[in-house]
Amino acid sequence: MGKCFVSVSAELRARVALEQHGFRTAHSLGQNFLFDEGLLNALLDRAGVTGEDRVLEIGPGPGVMTAQLARRCEKVVSLEIDEKLRPVLETVLEGMQNVRVIYCDAMKADIGRISRENLGEGPFRVVANLPYYITTDVLLRLATGGYPIRDISVMVQKEAAQRILARPGEKQWCAAAAVLAYFGQAQVLEEVPRDRFEPAPHVDSAFLRIEMYEEKPVQAQRDDMMLKTIHAAFLMRRKKLSNNLKAAFSLSGEQALAVLQQAGLSPDIRGEVLTMEELARLSDVLSTLL
Ligand code: SAM
Repeated sequence: MGKCFVSVSAELRARVALEQHGFRTAHSLGQNFLFDEGLLNALLDRAGVTGEDRVLEIGPGPGVMTAQLARRCEKVVSLEIDEKLRPVLETVLEGMQNVRVIYCDAMKADIGRISRENLGEGPFRVVANLPYYITTDVLLRLATGGYPIRDISVMVQKEAAQRILARPGEKQWCAAAAVLAYFGQAQVLEEVPRDRFEPAPHVDSAFLRIEMYEEKPVQAQRDDMMLKTIHAAFLMRRKKLSNNLKAAFSLSGEQALAVLQQAGLSPDIRGEVLTMEELARLSDVLSTLL
């Protein structure tokens, strides 16, 4: 039975297994699945996922993408929150020795330990198709965690992609975009219309790649302070940055103005207009004080 299944496409195996196990998708877990192997192959081609790669996959669902990854790469470890997918994934991935699925919440999982134990000490790549409501949090968790991640290829809501790609001064520019821009460079690889998913969500998607910098083009003295500075810059968008600094770092009005002056910034400036270089300069001034 198992051997016979290996020659059958992963899409068919997944569809049959979902049916056999009476699986019903959970809207609350963002279970909009991709079955089209042509599309999934094209997405992985665009992401450049190949032979030597070690991949952390988040949200394998019924495992059609996971099976493609296992065929292409040296090693795959996938994190799936829904235990009900276990029998489906066991069927779809049967006979594939280089893939392991761990049933856990990617937001709580010890990514460092899981990647070390399953993918080794070296750099690894991340592929994810997650519920849209946690995608940004997962991206921030991965980007700021200090893991040896080469890049993250992720399916995001089209609007989220626009926010992530926004630049300083643009309307969409926000704290999450600034944090991701500090650690890496994002580009849209492919737009994916909603009707490619089953069931179809209410929004279109974009497959995005964030290449993590080995050497950041803008480097603050302390990454932790840079993150706090970005958070402060966007704390209250309509307020002046001096007010946000007071609130975020418990500074007096005079101290906040002195910090801005030392960083070469106008006392009236708003946080959302700062460039990455200005944010880093501000972060470095704050590092000397706090
Ligand atoms: N990758 C599959 C595909 O393309 O067909 C499934 C994508 S589906 C949009 C999202 C998957 O993430 C679901 O299987 C869901 O159960 C899983 N998921 C949701 N929240 C999760 C979490 N916090 N940690 C790990 N997996 C999660």
